[in-house]
Amino acid sequence: MVTKHIPSKTKDELIVDLQSRLDEAEQTLNAIQNGEIDAIVTPQGSDGPKVYTLESADSLYRNLIQEMNEGVATLTYDGTIFYSNAQLAGMLKIPLDNIIGLKFKDFIFPDDLKTYNAIFDKGLKDKSKDEINIIAADGTIIPVYISINNLKDLNGVYIVITDLSEQKLHEDLKETLKKYGQLNRTLVALRHSSFAMMHAIDENSYLDDVCKIIVDDCGYSMVWIGFTEPEDKKVIPVVSAGFEEDYLKTLNITYDNTEFGNGPTGTAIKTGKICICENMQIDPTFKPWREEALKRGYESSLCIPIMNSEKVFGALTIYSEEINPFLEDEKRLLEELVGDIAYGITTIRLKVEHDNAEIAVQKSLIDVQRSNEELQQFAYVASHDLREPLRMITSFLQLLERRYSDQLDADADEFIGFAVDGAKRLDAMINDLLSYSKVTRKEIEFKNVTTEQILNQALINLKVPIEENNAIITHESLPIIDGDANLLVQLFQNLIGNAIKYRSKNNPQIHISAIKERNHYKFSVKDNGIGMDNVHLERIFTIFKRLHTKDEYEGTGIGLAIAQKIVHQHGGAIWVESKPVKGSTFYFTIPNKT
Ligand code: ADP
Repeated sequence: MVTKHIPSKTKDELIVDLQSRLDEAEQTLNAIQNGEIDAIVTPQGSDGPKVYTLESADSLYRNLIQEMNEGVATLTYDGTIFYSNAQLAGMLKIPLDNIIGLKFKDFIFPDDLKTYNAIFDKGLKDKSKDEINIIAADGTIIPVYISINNLKDLNGVYIVITDLSEQKLHEDLKETLKKYGQLNRTLVALRHSSFAMMHAIDENSYLDDVCKIIVDDCGYSMVWIGFTEPEDKKVIPVVSAGFEEDYLKTLNITYDNTEFGNGPTGTAIKTGKICICENMQIDPTFKPWREEALKRGYESSLCIPIMNSEKVFGALTIYSEEINPFLEDEKRLLEELVGDIAYGITTIRLKVEHDNAEIAVQKSLIDVQRSNEELQQFAYVASHDLREPLRMITSFLQLLERRYSDQLDADADEFIGFAVDGAKRLDAMINDLLSYSKVTRKEIEFKNVTTEQILNQALINLKVPIEENNAIITHESLPIIDGDANLLVQLFQNLIGNAIKYRSKNNPQIHISAIKERNHYKFSVKDNGIGMDNVHLERIFTIFKRLHTKDEYEGTGIGLAIAQKIVHQHGGAIWVESKPVKGSTFYFTIPNKT
């Protein structure tokens, strides 16, 4: 007797191996019907192997079908159901008894009808299968895997339907998890790059860190950052991270209208928008780099322009070994990250500029300080040392004058007189220069001083000219300020002295006042003297600058230069407002530190 053994398989394995088992069952049934074999033997059970004969084969086939997880039905060629197992009826939410006679087509999701018809037709000739959606009686749409096989003997087909809902759910869940995982990694990269920006020391190490962060956190193959070179419209890579293998050397990327400028990076720079090469193998714009990129396993790339107030100055390009793995949300996060990079670069560059400017200012301050000190030293030494020989000239001239005045002629006496006069003036000027050079910050002793007392001291020093000129000096209440008493006395003395000296025909009337303004006191010394023309108002503070000859008014032209220096050393400013004939008002400020 010829027998056929059904392979020893568990129920689960049977389900997994469904298709082949059905085929096998069908073949077995056919073989028995054709008389090719006489019986089939099932695997050894507890009660020994069971032998089925032709009579029992049909019921075996039916039992098998009823036990399966899949829905199985037989259809007539016009698609009417004439047999269904309980699973299919359950899937379609139709009572098993009512299912016979229904058209299976009516359960196909309309969009999938074309596919269904195609596999039905194909199934008549050969086995055919595909994924479609069916609609249950309660309207539920179920994704299924359907296989259609011809049953010539029965003048119909049998269909096997596997419910893919759970599998789809799994796939969807897996896909969603993958997306969230990627988004989460990008978020982490965003956070890490913010840290990198906060701790950035210099531009290159910062950009280097950011590239590493994107590769490490987001899991991309390679990232590089390049800057535009406007002269020849080239993009010069400056930093990169990841698997690169000299790829960047082969790039020659531009942002002109040649084929080297129309790839993702060139386009992103030209448009100021993100640009993606979804598939390097087929994207025609990627042709110039395809060979080298594929050699290194890159499949797609994404480029984001680096912009500073609408102006593109660089780009960040990311390479992936997957075909277009870039999610929409991820692109937005990466754009945000690149926005941060642009801000980081600008901040670092500004800081560098600021630091350089500060260094330059410090350097020039030191230079100014040094040359000031040298000048001070020079003025002091010159004025001090010059006085000695000058004194000798003056005293010998005076000796000449005394001893020989009656022995020489009138001209000679006059000449000696001029020489003595000149020497005296030179002495006065040198003396003034010495006083001027002594007003240095080092010598100043800042203390709380009452300006009224300062004024009184100045007036005592000016007692003689005040009385000689019948000057009337009035003042308002004057504040306590932080300053050097001796220098401030000299300041008041110089200004009031001038107000008396440059008097008009009227008796001098001088008024002193002070008002508090923001962070300083503004003092004024107002007179009714000869006044000055506007054009001279700034010049008069220059050392030895005078508006009059010594015959008109005595003086060397140092008084206001010293006054200005005293005010500056106190951190204030000095200026004058004046009109010829009407009089002048000198103003000066002293910072209020009290
Ligand atoms: P000097 O009085 O020795 O000439 P100053 O430096 O004190 O030197 O003054 C410079 C010039 O400013 C004076 O020559 C004078 O022409 C002008 N000047 C100063 N104070 C007054 C004033 N109160 N009224 C008019 N002119 C003045």
